[in-house]
Amino acid sequence: MRAAKILIACCFAVTVVDAQPPQKKPSAPDIYLVTIDTLRADHVHCYGYERVQTPALDALAKDGIRFAQAFTPSPITNSSHTTILTGLLPSSHGVTDFAVPLAATHPTWAELLKQKGYHTAAFIGAIILDSKSLAPGLDRGFDFYDNFPEHPLTKSRFGRVERRGMDVVQRAEKWMNAHPAGPHFVWVHLYDPHDPYEPPPPYSQMYKDHLYDGEIAYADAALGILLAYLKQQGRYENSAIIVVGDHGEGLGEHHEDTHGIFLYDSTTHVPLIMKLPGHSNAARVVDAQVRTTDIFPTVLDLLHVPAPERLDGESLKPYFGGAECASRTAFGETDYPLRFGWAPLRSVREDRFKFIEAPKPELYDLQKDPGELKNEYSRTNEMVQKGRKLLTDLWAKKPAVAAGSAATASPGAANQLQALGYVGQTETSSTNAPSGLPDPKDKIEEQNLLHTAMIASEDERPAEARSALEKVLQLDSKSPTALKQIGELELKAGEYAKAAAHLKTAREIRPDDATAAFEAGQALEKTDDLGGARDALEASLKLQSSQLPARLLLGQVYLRLNEPKAADDQFEAALLIEPKSVEAQIGAAKTQIAQGNFADAVQQLEGVSKSHPDNVEVFETLAEAYTGAGKREDAQQAESRAKQLQKNKHR
Ligand SMILES: [Zn+2]
Repeated sequence: MRAAKILIACCFAVTVVDAQPPQKKPSAPDIYLVTIDTLRADHVHCYGYERVQTPALDALAKDGIRFAQAFTPSPITNSSHTTILTGLLPSSHGVTDFAVPLAATHPTWAELLKQKGYHTAAFIGAIILDSKSLAPGLDRGFDFYDNFPEHPLTKSRFGRVERRGMDVVQRAEKWMNAHPAGPHFVWVHLYDPHDPYEPPPPYSQMYKDHLYDGEIAYADAALGILLAYLKQQGRYENSAIIVVGDHGEGLGEHHEDTHGIFLYDSTTHVPLIMKLPGHSNAARVVDAQVRTTDIFPTVLDLLHVPAPERLDGESLKPYFGGAECASRTAFGETDYPLRFGWAPLRSVREDRFKFIEAPKPELYDLQKDPGELKNEYSRTNEMVQKGRKLLTDLWAKKPAVAAGSAATASPGAANQLQALGYVGQTETSSTNAPSGLPDPKDKIEEQNLLHTAMIASEDERPAEARSALEKVLQLDSKSPTALKQIGELELKAGEYAKAAAHLKTAREIRPDDATAAFEAGQALEKTDDLGGARDALEASLKLQSSQLPARLLLGQVYLRLNEPKAADDQFEAALLIEPKSVEAQIGAAKTQIAQGNFADAVQQLEGVSKSHPDNVEVFETLAEAYTGAGKREDAQQAESRAKQLQKNKHR
């Protein structure tokens, strides 16, 4: 019945006004891609949700084509965006985790359009898509990619890890004003609906009982500003504007508060609206099931750009005129559970059913049960067999090297991830076969608690974070993520013995975690367990040799252990990582002092004191070196300089 309804809706859609003047050949159209993060289709007004105002999206849908049933294969930002920009499933493009570089072999949207003479720029709303840290390779083909500052001046999350939608749009407008020559391909990423839900006024008031919707209304307002700008600049008419959600949000459905773990419609059904150049096909609604892998092939088709050899999607053009009505099979994939040590999930969605491959597989009859509440899985069920076959065929087609290179987020990048509420750590990616790992369905309460703890910790509410983490440990005393998080919390609170105990257990479960080992080293050094600190820091550096703070601390530990030669090795290694590191230079001088080489220490430190005339520790150490060298007057001078600087510091 439903299929018949779709056929009618699709093939006999309203007559379409083609507004293109026949006499003039239009120049190459501008292409604008707007991705709105964490946007559920069923929370947009033109998708039938009454509790939110989204006038910009509604107006764009009137000028273009609204896909009522569009699905992302991935419920997590990096993977889903890479899918939009490459037309490939996560298992094909390989970006199945944060910080995994996009392989150069996959052509991107920006790259192909740049070759066509497009001026390309990207404006991101969260550091999660920063190409310097968490999304390497995503900037390929962009003339300008608006990354976050390496050393942010603000402590607020805005400007440091996140930008408000209006800010992102303003930055895009500024770039377009400075680069008026077209054609343009501009990607704008609006991160606002992502949690924590903190819309600015007046949305914070208007939507005070449902702040997620407030963020959506705000993001829509930012989109409205962008569209008004394009109209004012005369760029709107001859442009293709594509707005799509990167994934949805659990909002507690299936016990998932946010997104990333599951593959239910709550996090995979996204809004997709395409306004075509010259308003062709205005106000059309396509009810057939389509995928976000189809967006990139559609753009290439519109611009007559040859498609890359490998694509997991197909052009949506046949739907525009009603030539095609059939639904397309939508695959789903998430490796995010692996970060917590749980099984990855794979799914197949057709009009009639959804099959989810998991340690405890699931089947939903979408016609009877659109909320995916009643699992009807049985091995012999016809839909299960069909779903399994589709998955097997998909994987059989994949080239052998499908998964991306296993990359670990650097410690800095890991902090940025935490600031955005993403926890867990990189694990080796698996194929579609469910392993002996726990089913995420049995673990989702833990994930919610871990997420709550992360956000609380980021917002300086340590008591709330600790209570959430303790609840996780009650559910699973061996949760490496919870142990590590609580260890970090105690470390921050100065409870070093407690921190050391938690981190010790965390390391026993995950001995390859360089950060946990470094943090254990910090805690042990503070409790004066110098041998323990040395071992933990050596282990950490063996796993990841380029960590400057770990090198510096290990040098200090060796100094305290009266092993100046070993300490010197560490400071030398630190200087190789960061040749200007003042801490490493002071450390190296201290190793000279410890060996009685006062003249060498003096020589080193006099140089450092010139480049760092305001550094207390430089002058304190210099006084020590002068004293050793028998230069009493110089020592006194250095000491009083140190004291003066110390005083200034506390003023
Ligand atoms: Zn996202």
